[in-house]
Amino acid sequence: MSFKQKLQSGIDTVVNVDESEVAGQAYRLGDEFVQLQNASIMMVDDELITMRVLQSFLEEVGYHEFILVDDSVTAMDELRKHRPDILLLDVAMPKVSGFDILKLLRQEDEFAHLPVIILTSSSDAATKLQALDLGATDFLSKPVDSSELALRVRNTLAAKAYQDQLAYYDPLTDLPNRHLFQDRLRWSTSCALRDKGKLALMHVAFDDFNRVTDTFGPKVSDDVFKQLAVKLSGNIRVADAIGCEVVNTDESIDVFRFGGADFTLLLTSIDAIAEAGLVAKRIFEVMCEPLNADGTDVYLKPSIGVAGFPDDASDPATLLKLAVGASSQAIAQGGGRLQFYSTEMNESSLRRMRMEADLRRALAENEFRLLLQPKVSVKDGNIIGAESLIRWHDPARGCISPVEFIPVAEDTGLILPIGEWVLREACNILMSWRKQGINLKMSVNISARQFFEGDLVALVDSVLNEHNFEPSLLVLEMTESILVDDVDTALEILAQLRGLGVQISIDDFGTGYSSLSYLKLFRADEVKIDRAFIMDVTTSKEDQALVYAITYLGREMGFTVCAEGVEDSEQRDYLKKIKCDEYQGFYFSKPISHIEFSALYFSEKAASGHPG
Ligand code: C2E
Ligand code: MG
Ligand code: MG
Repeated sequence: MSFKQKLQSGIDTVVNVDESEVAGQAYRLGDEFVQLQNASIMMVDDELITMRVLQSFLEEVGYHEFILVDDSVTAMDELRKHRPDILLLDVAMPKVSGFDILKLLRQEDEFAHLPVIILTSSSDAATKLQALDLGATDFLSKPVDSSELALRVRNTLAAKAYQDQLAYYDPLTDLPNRHLFQDRLRWSTSCALRDKGKLALMHVAFDDFNRVTDTFGPKVSDDVFKQLAVKLSGNIRVADAIGCEVVNTDESIDVFRFGGADFTLLLTSIDAIAEAGLVAKRIFEVMCEPLNADGTDVYLKPSIGVAGFPDDASDPATLLKLAVGASSQAIAQGGGRLQFYSTEMNESSLRRMRMEADLRRALAENEFRLLLQPKVSVKDGNIIGAESLIRWHDPARGCISPVEFIPVAEDTGLILPIGEWVLREACNILMSWRKQGINLKMSVNISARQFFEGDLVALVDSVLNEHNFEPSLLVLEMTESILVDDVDTALEILAQLRGLGVQISIDDFGTGYSSLSYLKLFRADEVKIDRAFIMDVTTSKEDQALVYAITYLGREMGFTVCAEGVEDSEQRDYLKKIKCDEYQGFYFSKPISHIEFSALYFSEKAASGHPG
């Protein structure tokens, strides 16, 4: 939460206090000021002990955010880094004095109005005058009296909050205004630059708001505008940007009134500009509900423009220009749509949005199929299991690869119902095998969100209870990169899964961390070497070394090793030479339907002379 926001929470009461009361320091200690106590207080003093004493005085009256700086040389950097709400500044310090700091900070736009209380042991009027000239807000004499300190800090913060309310907040909606937005934009881009992070700026325009004013007049339109502000600011959360509930936060994203019927949002700490698409989706959802104009339902169409920093622009002014330009383009195209500045982003966001809608339909209309790819023993070529691989038969586009839709399903959370469908379908096939006398293992791919978010253990448990096959016939495949995301939780879940009797396989080994110590930690039953290492295994010495090392480790540590993507007999022969256990690949069979799989199984069995 920004300092202005923190103060804002306490402002409703503060503004009721008569300004002369503020100036006259006639303060009541009470609940009304609790929000002010969330202010962050920076102290700069060469004596740490003095600052500690002041901190304990202030803690006693409820303040809890402190930044103590005992090296005045670093004071400006610390100020820029932390942007405190108030500064308590000692005057007499070696190297850089309090006056030097005061002079410097007043030259920077963002600190022009920062409240600074000067701590001075000098009772000399000239020193105080000099401090005032340099822009000090107030004084405190050392040694500092605790109640005097509390009162000064409180008064200064309250007066600042009142000023901020006038300067930085829109009086109609109470939302932070364009000035505060500009300030936050500068601050956020400089943080992103420092942390090598990304930031998306969204400009949300309601160009059809004029209609409301024209139809209902200014009084009703003000009321509708207030509803609009509440709708936007109360419903857009950080979790919408990340796109999942794993983020344990209900924190809302700041919405600024940019001017007219325009709003801006800043998405900080995002991994990809595309995440703005999820926030836009939420805004469209929220705006499907009508606003109430004096008893009449009014629907407004948001036109949303997005530009990313540093991808699209490397300075705040250009970033803003691009986002506003993008929303104008959205309006020009009929409004009620999202437009990224980058065409590439635009296309991929459109594709994703369409795909999400299509995936929901696919789930309802049962458009998914499960194919099986045989897993084969390297030694004798016998089929020893199958990996289930999902396919989506879209009526319009035909067969869509999981590589394309699983990531979208992950982002949107649709992977949970889709993953459950896969697991149930795979178990149904296991049961039908049982009836046919096929006793093979079935591997099922588990994605990150399924592993950490859905209750995988409960799901597997209930599916096992519904069917009666040997649990060890079910193998759950997950990539190492999923497991290392949160090792402790992963180990806990793995232990519970093992407790149910199912087997664990590490998929695509070699592409992620490929840490041998993790292999030991996860105690997998199987490790699958990624296709990338099998592709050139007959020619590349490095790939041979990796495949050999994993095979050797598997033998020593007691896990099965399966090579993925074997496409020819030379690759298979190399695996045979090093005594790798299993392989999968087009050389033996592409993924096929379960009916074709059963037929293949029996014909192979007949050919090897062991029918039935
Ligand atoms: P994966 O689990 O590593 O699956 C192996 C992929 O390699 C499959 O692609 C398979 O068709 C392909 N493959 C097998 N042998 C060969 C070969 O010899 N040459 C070549 N070029 N490719 C081969 P597919 O079916 O497109 O699946 C891709 C990925 O999608 C899977 O990689 C898996 O990560 C994911 N996936 C597939 N089905 C599911 C599912 O039901 N749930 C989840 N969560 N993910 C799935
Ligand atoms: Mg797999
Ligand atoms: Mg794989």
